[in-house]
Amino acid sequence: MGLFSKHECEECRARFKSYDELVSHAQQAHKRHVVKCASCGKLFLHEKDRLHHVKEEKEHKVDERRHRF
Ligand SMILES: [Zn+2]
Ligand SMILES: [Zn+2]
Repeated sequence: MGLFSKHECEECRARFKSYDELVSHAQQAHKRHVVKCASCGKLFLHEKDRLHHVKEEKEHKVDERRHRF
């Protein structure tokens, strides 16, 4: 697994430095359907990626709350 393998386009194998770049490439070059996080607006190629993000976001919010009080 190389450094950029995480952000490789499934359609044309182009590689990107960030997931966001990959998502916008897939949207523009391949007209891919993307899913959006309802709380922060971040875009994802797969529903499972979005669910993973939502889970992390929730955990992060719980951590913030813990620090605050
Ligand atoms: Zn591509
Ligand atoms: Zn989010």
